[in-house]
Amino acid sequence: MDFTPEEQQRYARQLALPEIGTAGQAKLRAGRVLVIGAGGLGSPAALYLAAAGVGTLGLMDGDAVDLSNLQRQILHATADVGRRKVESAAAKLRALNPQTELRLFPERFTAANAAARLADFNFVVDATDNFASKFLIADACHAAGRPYAHAGILRFHGQVMTVLPGKTACYRCVFEQQPPETGASPQGPLGVVPGVLGTLQAAEAIKFLLGLGQLLTDRLLTFDALTLRFREVPVKRQPHCRLCGDPDHARP
Ligand SMILES: [Zn+2]
Repeated sequence: MDFTPEEQQRYARQLALPEIGTAGQAKLRAGRVLVIGAGGLGSPAALYLAAAGVGTLGLMDGDAVDLSNLQRQILHATADVGRRKVESAAAKLRALNPQTELRLFPERFTAANAAARLADFNFVVDATDNFASKFLIADACHAAGRPYAHAGILRFHGQVMTVLPGKTACYRCVFEQQPPETGASPQGPLGVVPGVLGTLQAAEAIKFLLGLGQLLTDRLLTFDALTLRFREVPVKRQPHCRLCGDPDHARP
């Protein structure tokens, strides 16, 4: 549990927190978090996780930076337009904290690569922007027993929830089925909305690695930027959930 003088200085404010200290900082250094999506949610999540000293950070995204991303995807800058998002993100994260080991996956999260990607990480941040990926992450994390922080955003609103597979309400307990894709052109979101929610996902990942506090489980937290209100909706594991439910209660 030795920390170099540089680490002691870098993490001085966390080391000074009795709830973290050197033992907690060592847990963060041993932590391995996979951030799926290097966009609006993944930007603040990855920045705070690297800053906090999470030892290994996986970044997964198959897209390249587009000028229209920069309004909210704060890992990327104007000069990065056209560059792979994972590479653009890695440059910023390395500059922030060279001690965090980065593992880059310039690809989408798919049913084919899910198990191999999840195998190497302790916690997953779902920072994707579409229902198909969110349901896939929920299903794959359940199968692999990987805890994850879900977040979703739309226009001026968002929601966040943490799932401990097999122990707490899962994404399908709350949302059941994937809604049809509308094909409508995306509106928003206001950039600060993923900024707030991605930051909350990072807080959950850090708390999970530290074993600290109370995770956002069995609760869906919603955020409305227009009224600046957070609301907490209690959610329960559903006996008929097709993912984590009891097969005896399965719906026909
Ligand atoms: Zn469930």
